[in-house]
Amino acid sequence: MKYQVPFLDLRVTDEAERRELLEAFEGVLRHGRLVMGPEVEQLETEVARYCGRRFAVSVGSGSSALYLALRALGIGAGDEVITTSLSWIATANAIALTGATPVFADIDDDLNIDPSSVRRLIGRRTRAIVPVHYTGKVCRMDALAAIAGDAGLLLVEDAAQAFGATLRGRAAGSFGDAASFSMNPMKVFAALGEAGVVVTDREDVRDRLVRLRYNGTVNRETCLEPGPNGRMDTVQAALLLRRLSRLPAVLSRRREIAGVYAHHLAGVVGVPVESPEQRDVYYTYQIQCDRRDALKAFLEGEGIETKIQHPIAMPDQPAYAGEARGEFSNARRLIARILCIPVHEKLTDEDLDHVVDSIVRFGAGPG
Ligand SMILES: *Cc1c(COP(=O)(O)O)cnc(C)c1O
Repeated sequence: MKYQVPFLDLRVTDEAERRELLEAFEGVLRHGRLVMGPEVEQLETEVARYCGRRFAVSVGSGSSALYLALRALGIGAGDEVITTSLSWIATANAIALTGATPVFADIDDDLNIDPSSVRRLIGRRTRAIVPVHYTGKVCRMDALAAIAGDAGLLLVEDAAQAFGATLRGRAAGSFGDAASFSMNPMKVFAALGEAGVVVTDREDVRDRLVRLRYNGTVNRETCLEPGPNGRMDTVQAALLLRRLSRLPAVLSRRREIAGVYAHHLAGVVGVPVESPEQRDVYYTYQIQCDRRDALKAFLEGEGIETKIQHPIAMPDQPAYAGEARGEFSNARRLIARILCIPVHEKLTDEDLDHVVDSIVRFGAGPG
């Protein structure tokens, strides 16, 4: 069906942006350094500065970023890594691919990992905690840092959805031993293809990441440890540099839309709550509703595209079910209630009115 209000619109419709991206592409065509060209290092410098970190290492995807960050910190076979139950499955997969075992903590009503659940799950083999700043909202990092500190665990942020988000003025990605970002086309800070970045303050971790992302080699030929080919294309780095300068406008429009939703929809459905300390980027806008499936069908009838992200808790995925250790009753309960409504920056005020009006009419309808 042709949606009147699409969930996402990845076309580049702004003429000025289109010209900038084409210029960036032209620049790469002219110098011809298609792999590890100058834009790659420039992007790393900009991202590190943006996040308040010493180092950024660009990689081929957000999945690769988390996997390589864990490898660079020495996580592997025999280790347990505690993560959330609600995320894109890439989070659990990155842990499992290192040889470690993911352990799944429960979530709070804000959909982020519940620190008290993390504390209960720490065992003899636990090596690290991987919180996910889900929906673009930074987790309770002070509680998680205290737990990690007490137990001597590494803290690695999966910040794939949260580039630009802050907690008490501190950027997502600046809290852990390392943090991973995704710049895939759906993310708020997006390339025109696959891309990711790891940030850290640790020089040893940076050095290991640089070799891991190129088959574990140093000086081009000597292989110190097995690794994938996980580098970012120069073209994507060049496009991301242009997009970085447009990010403030993108974030402010998303936050404006979220403000409109919160104002009109609180009391009709459950809406995300932002504390005065948080500045969320609204990668997704997840409402909560008892009659979620009926609401989704109703909005579809109104031409509004919505998504259930993600309908299966990670420990319930066939790849992990049966052997998954953890706590996930709250995750299962919330997954039955959540619905993502469009929040992308291309929404017009008319689109917004239509979404708000439709949800309010649904809320007023027969139970
Ligand atoms: C998008 C995403 C990833 C994976 O990023 P890719 O660039 O798609 O590989 C990992 N974790 C979370 C939470 C994500 O949203």
